[in-house]
Amino acid sequence: MSMFEYRNGEMYAEDVPLSRIAEVTGTPVYVYSAGTLTEAYTRFASALAEAGLNARVCYAMKANSNIAVIRTLADLGAGADVVSGGELDRALIAGVRAEDIVFSGVGKTPGEMQRAITAGIGQFNVESVPELELLSHVSASAGATVDIAIRVNPNVDANTHHKISTGRQEDKFGIDIARAQEIYALAASLPGIAPIAVAVHIGSQLTDVSPFRAAFARVAELVGELRAAGHDIRKLDLGGGLGIDYGGQTPPPVEDYAAVVAETVGHLGCELMFEPGRYLAGPAGILVTQVIYAKEAEARRFAIVDAAMNDLIRPALYDAVHRIEPAREPAPETALHPWDVVGPVCETGDTFAKGCELPALSDGELLVMRDAGAYGAVMSSVYNSRPLVAEVLVRGDAFAIVRERQEPATFLGYESLADWQD
Ligand SMILES: *Cc1c(COP(=O)(O)O)cnc(C)c1O
Repeated sequence: MSMFEYRNGEMYAEDVPLSRIAEVTGTPVYVYSAGTLTEAYTRFASALAEAGLNARVCYAMKANSNIAVIRTLADLGAGADVVSGGELDRALIAGVRAEDIVFSGVGKTPGEMQRAITAGIGQFNVESVPELELLSHVSASAGATVDIAIRVNPNVDANTHHKISTGRQEDKFGIDIARAQEIYALAASLPGIAPIAVAVHIGSQLTDVSPFRAAFARVAELVGELRAAGHDIRKLDLGGGLGIDYGGQTPPPVEDYAAVVAETVGHLGCELMFEPGRYLAGPAGILVTQVIYAKEAEARRFAIVDAAMNDLIRPALYDAVHRIEPAREPAPETALHPWDVVGPVCETGDTFAKGCELPALSDGELLVMRDAGAYGAVMSSVYNSRPLVAEVLVRGDAFAIVRERQEPATFLGYESLADWQD
């Protein structure tokens, strides 16, 4: 499900050879495929429609918030799930309609709430009682009434990496589902907010549908109880979290996910919202890097590449493994050797892969790290004073630089000596 393939002996992004992009932008560079984004969106939305569900997709743009990526998805009909004022700005600049924006996250500030209310967004997902009270105050003061969902924590273990699991009681997200009745009653009594929805999101990179089934079934039960108590629950926001195959995982097909949704909440007559991030953006991006030194030590081969943990932190942070392939297609009989692919940052954690089977590598050769479209560029930093890299969007035989490589002067420009150091 990605359009990065070998043709004529080298890797292409759709109809553009990666070597051509790298010549123009230099490396490292993130390359995104509009066709792959489109395919993933279409597959996700069609699976839900074919399961007979009334669904709206609000792309979780924290996965990849480049405005050209957001616009690609918005053009297909996607709304946006935002988690900060900065993301709200990006969604609006990218052309997402305000009413198609959902504001999630545990720590919205009064200023962020105000901006979102002024912009006229569609829904706030509220995660705590103090947030509920603050939002009511900010909204009522502005003379507004905003639709809200309360994010419930169903206490379901998503069986994913502990840093991206969000639906267990000990996680910081949402309101304990056992307290939901009490909190919806409070919400209904407050001015400026209309509690018309229930939200849930149990984690990211799920490779099994059963935690979804457990969580959605609990939500369905809750909707029945809330309606019995007189609340007009019209919408459900079922979050994101569907995993992708980074090489070796077996995430469920989206059709199975849709079937679980239909089975658990299909009978409720609610408008459904989904917030996929990784599923849409992950396979649509690669990180192209260049071998600086191919170092063959006694016991090991090291490829020291020009990308580092500051550019793609997932291996260091989540023990993630990205498939690495040479941009130049190896001839069929080429012998492969185990290589450790490492970045130049002075930390052992700056390792992309250990024992990755690759052909003989030489200095200057391009390597491709796959499935880097989600939680890649957005999580990058300038650690070791390494500037942010370029991002490119490809569509067919066209490509555009959608973020320029940062010049060191750009971030140095924000610093100065203290006035007593002159
Ligand atoms: C991160 C997040 C998502 C997206 O998760 P993916 O695993 O990328 O699909 C959706 N909703 C909320 C509330 C999130 O925090």
